[in-house]
Amino acid sequence: MKKIAVLTSGGDAPGMNAAVRAVVRKAIFEGLEVAGVFNGYQGLIEGKIELLQLGSVGDIIHRGGTMLRTARSPEFHTLEGREEALEQLKKNDIEGLVVIGGDGSFRGAYELAKLGFPCVCVPATIDNDINGTEFTIGFDTALNTVIDAIDKIRDTATSHERTFIIEVMGRDAGDLALWSGLAAGAETILIPEEKYEVPAIIDRLRSGTGRGKKHSIIIVAEGVMTAAELAVILKKVAGIETRVSVLGHIQRGGSPSARDRVIASQYGARAVEVLKEGKGSVAIGMRKHRVIDYSLEDVFEKNDEWEADLYKLSKELSI
Ligand code: ADP
Repeated sequence: MKKIAVLTSGGDAPGMNAAVRAVVRKAIFEGLEVAGVFNGYQGLIEGKIELLQLGSVGDIIHRGGTMLRTARSPEFHTLEGREEALEQLKKNDIEGLVVIGGDGSFRGAYELAKLGFPCVCVPATIDNDINGTEFTIGFDTALNTVIDAIDKIRDTATSHERTFIIEVMGRDAGDLALWSGLAAGAETILIPEEKYEVPAIIDRLRSGTGRGKKHSIIIVAEGVMTAAELAVILKKVAGIETRVSVLGHIQRGGSPSARDRVIASQYGARAVEVLKEGKGSVAIGMRKHRVIDYSLEDVFEKNDEWEADLYKLSKELSI
């Protein structure tokens, strides 16, 4: 293998830049040429491909977003689109591709790999929802952003003796809500993985009030319902007044945490090694503190168990 390419795709996540840097620097260290594909799969189809040098990725390790930009590409969902992408890869003498992104980007890479092109995927999404890996790039930074916001809202909740409902990202995966709720001491956490019952939420709020507690924090993952919807339910069912805060896109940006920079560096470098070893259709990830590579097929065929223990603990500690 003489030349590889790297792209970022789907929703951006803090630490994508650190991963791009790792791929580029490790490739050059290993004596490979490395090209950057701009604007994800759409850019690949359109041939937005440039050779990168050591200096091309200087001064980006600490920046959020992605210097390669990202895009969603409906065209790449079609076989014709993917064949055009293959043409571009061949035209540019590229023999392997590193895809940095989330679940959708992994599916795209899996489809490309099925056409015989070696693809290695690096998980980067604040949702932490890729099967087979315990951590994705961006999750830790987003978690810290959310905790920072909850701490600030708690000051107001305490001063004004109010209950706040905070809506965080996570359509199918409640990791961000669960981890931030536990880390910030939220009284109630609602996640898509666990059925919720309105009477139980009300009981928790009332038992807090019963022992003199004047404020409460409820974290709701967007996949369960909106914070505004929950506020209406609590008012209607129990006459409980709440304030609502939707954190939105601030969760996706910002300078990556130390942890995200480190795992992005490890994952990016491992992706290059895997391509050099002649493997294709592979995902990079982490299990039990070790960087691993595993078949892309496993990402879609197997479902990780969600962290029920963490959820149970959060309930025990917030009685
Ligand atoms: P994320 O990677 O953050 O989950 P998306 O779900 O938007 O983001 O996926 C990013 C891109 O990956 C899509 O715009 C599309 O080009 C490609 N993609 C997603 N799913 C598939 C699929 N089943 N087949 C081919 N390409 C796909």
